[in-house]
Amino acid sequence: MDRPGLEHAFPTLTAEQVARIDVHGRRRSTSRGEVLVELGDRAPFFVIVSGEVQVLRAADPAAALIVTHRAGQFSGEANMITGRRAMARLRVSEPGEVIELDREQLLRLIQTDPELSELLMRAFIQRRLMLIAGDLGDVVLIGSAHCRGTLRVKAFLTRNGHPFHYVDLDRDRDAQDLLDRFQIGVDDIPVVICRGQAVLRDPSNQQIAECLGFNEEIDDTRVNDVVIIGGGPAGLAAAVYGASEGLDVLVLESNLPGGQAGSSSRIENYLGFPTGISGLDLTGRAHAQALKFGAHVAVATGAKRLSCDGQRYTIELDNGHVIPARAVIIATGAEYRKPAIDNLTTFEGAGVYYGATPMEAQLAAGAEVVVVGGANSAGQAAVFLASTARHVHMLVRGRGLADTMSRYLIRRIEDNPAISLRTKTQITALEGNGRLERISWRNDETGHVESHAIGHCFIMAGAVPNTRWLDGCLVMDGNGFVKTGPDLSPDELASAGWPLVRPPFLLETSRPGIFAVGDVRGGNFKRVASAVGEGSNAIAFVHQLLRH
Ligand SMILES: Cc1cc2nc3c(=O)[nH]c(=O)nc-3n(C[C@H](O)[C@H](O)[C@H](O)COP(=O)(O)OP(=O)(O)OC[C@H]3O[C@@H](n4cnc5c(N)ncnc54)[C@H](O)[C@@H]3O)c2cc1C
Repeated sequence: MDRPGLEHAFPTLTAEQVARIDVHGRRRSTSRGEVLVELGDRAPFFVIVSGEVQVLRAADPAAALIVTHRAGQFSGEANMITGRRAMARLRVSEPGEVIELDREQLLRLIQTDPELSELLMRAFIQRRLMLIAGDLGDVVLIGSAHCRGTLRVKAFLTRNGHPFHYVDLDRDRDAQDLLDRFQIGVDDIPVVICRGQAVLRDPSNQQIAECLGFNEEIDDTRVNDVVIIGGGPAGLAAAVYGASEGLDVLVLESNLPGGQAGSSSRIENYLGFPTGISGLDLTGRAHAQALKFGAHVAVATGAKRLSCDGQRYTIELDNGHVIPARAVIIATGAEYRKPAIDNLTTFEGAGVYYGATPMEAQLAAGAEVVVVGGANSAGQAAVFLASTARHVHMLVRGRGLADTMSRYLIRRIEDNPAISLRTKTQITALEGNGRLERISWRNDETGHVESHAIGHCFIMAGAVPNTRWLDGCLVMDGNGFVKTGPDLSPDELASAGWPLVRPPFLLETSRPGIFAVGDVRGGNFKRVASAVGEGSNAIAFVHQLLRH
């Protein structure tokens, strides 16, 4: 990679920029052959003042050269920000002098020097992209496109921005022979070779995170100002605002940062992105931003129990650890109920929608659409869509709507010639190439199957909040969403034992210092923008709380 045209990935600092870094670290001389960073180390950051430093792919002397840093250049890539382990070896090829900064010193520099912050962040991210593009990581994933576990592990590594080399068993016969020889059977797929050492058979995300040391810098004995549970848009927004305003912030995410928004192919209604942005990009940037300000983000680390009696709150994790916190922000979101239909996730955002806002209605204007569901949300969606769509086919599993929908909506549906209600009916197939093109459904009473060229399917089966783990700690609404602020009645507060004279803050739950934001909160408008707004607002209340 020692080639021209990479000035953003491998810039040369000016003497004045080097001087600004100098005050944050310490100078030291280097000798030929000295190893500054070994593969798997927690690497410090180096600016080369004189001499040369080689970045090598593996630890052996014949290892491939990735790049050579010369005077004015600097070491490191995205793991400098995340605090994760080095994926390359750094060896001095020409003796000279370096400036060394540990991660804390580097983060301080980034937070206080906007020009260097932009330059370093851009270089680190580009270098990580080059590692990903060149399969230059420390992980080999052996799997098959037909295996759910392989897709899960791929998604986990990709969404964590961790480079890996993929060996496809469907194409590579030699790899299959190798696995046979080591008696690795179909049930063990995927296999992950981690840092060239551990061989993990069908590992959980948690095992991979552990092996790669994703959560190593998390100190669970430390009492954080605020522990945020859930790393979707609401949790990440709280982390960015909290950390940038000087709070000690820890985010616990049971899977991957990004939440539901991370699975959206294109978000077009988020402020500032007129042409839309993929959910992965938006939440990936938010994750990097939170880390840049010093927030700690634990991945594949779920909260199992919140202990809410006593003076200080503690969160029990699914790995058995217990984390104390001064304040807690619950941002665990909700999951849309999804009927068991093959290919459903393939078409999410490409013809399958879980909301019917003017944006989706515009996409389906003039077309035939299907609405699935028999509750009020489905009724509202059908009536709303009928004003712009050519025709709405409303599919309901039950005998009718009377038990599940408000009378006024039933009347509007019955009176609207643009809506056909099909009871006792379920979708049997979704088809399309890249996006939804055809929907088939079956009448359970007659067994009759119909297939239509319809490209828009609105699943309005409701959302289930991720609150089971809270186990009676907080007051919930009838659907299990967390109640906050003015939604809590005096009776509810009294029976929950609210101990203060002041009423709960706007986003505060029935326990002082525990907040709920985003989709998990009762009455929340289930959109990225409102999740982000609530996450950042909650930090203002945390400040007020910690001041007293
Ligand atoms: C396919 C799809 C497309 C969408 N498109 C749009 C769009 O275009 N525009 C728009 O505005 N909105 C869109 N939405 C809605 C939007 O994504 C949500 O409103 C938003 O993500 C809510 O953010 P949140 O942080 O509150 O919750 P979530 O995004 O649900 O994040 C919650 C996080 O908490 C984690 N978690 C859950 N339980 C635990 C636990 N016990 N411990 C630790 N972590 C836990 C989850 O893994 C998850 O990462 C879409 C949703 C989907 C599913």
